[in-house]
Amino acid sequence: MELIKDGKRIDGRSFDELRPIKIEAGVLKRADGSAYVEWGGNKVLAAVYGPREAQPRHIQNPTKAIVSCRYNMAAFSVSDRKRQGPDRRSVEISKIVSEALDRVIFTEQFPRATIDVYMEVLQADAGTRCTCLTAASVALADAGIPMRDFVSACAVGKVDGQIVLDLGKEEDNLGEADLPIAIMPRTGEILLLQMDGHLTMEEFNKAVTLGMNACMKIYEMQKEALMKKYTGD
Ligand code: UDP
Repeated sequence: MELIKDGKRIDGRSFDELRPIKIEAGVLKRADGSAYVEWGGNKVLAAVYGPREAQPRHIQNPTKAIVSCRYNMAAFSVSDRKRQGPDRRSVEISKIVSEALDRVIFTEQFPRATIDVYMEVLQADAGTRCTCLTAASVALADAGIPMRDFVSACAVGKVDGQIVLDLGKEEDNLGEADLPIAIMPRTGEILLLQMDGHLTMEEFNKAVTLGMNACMKIYEMQKEALMKKYTGD
């Protein structure tokens, strides 16, 4: 299957073009903070509770809060019905999201507490871990949890020999490499970098730069979503 034709990608995008993204903060009444993100064909809800006392007590850390994340795909989120419950992939994504968020939250301000982040993928179309991280950090900010910064994320990859931004489903499945990246935008510090596939050093550097620039665009959208909730603009 040809993924690039006449300099355009299978969905008509140019190599450095993001899919359409919509971010909304504060969509759930019962959670302390929440966000809904549509990113291309991905639809993700994130909900945050806490900080609250960690239970049972033996899981408490006397020096900082635990950031506990759960990534879950709804049964109807993918084309073949997804078997319910955690599988290896969702355990991995929960872990990497939790590690990235732990770096930006001032966890030392909340000893013995837990901050729980639930991410529900309602519809998946490649790039759900980046969509979830983006949603989760807006939900944390919406919950008023003190943070150094947002986490902004985006995947880059290699398709038909070209480095392209924000892989779609066919590109993710059939492409040569997939590289999700998350950063702390103010400092440019990398909080997540995974790679599936092969890239030369030159391609890798090009991909990281492309991905980081895209994260800065996502960052602007995250700030706008929060501003919209709190000022109505
Ligand atoms: N996917 C699927 N069934 C699964 C897991 C994943 O159809 O059980 C699809 C889904 O669209 C997902 C894509 O494969 O977005 C790519 O998955 P990957 O593991 O690369 O993570 P992601 O790109 O979503 O962060």
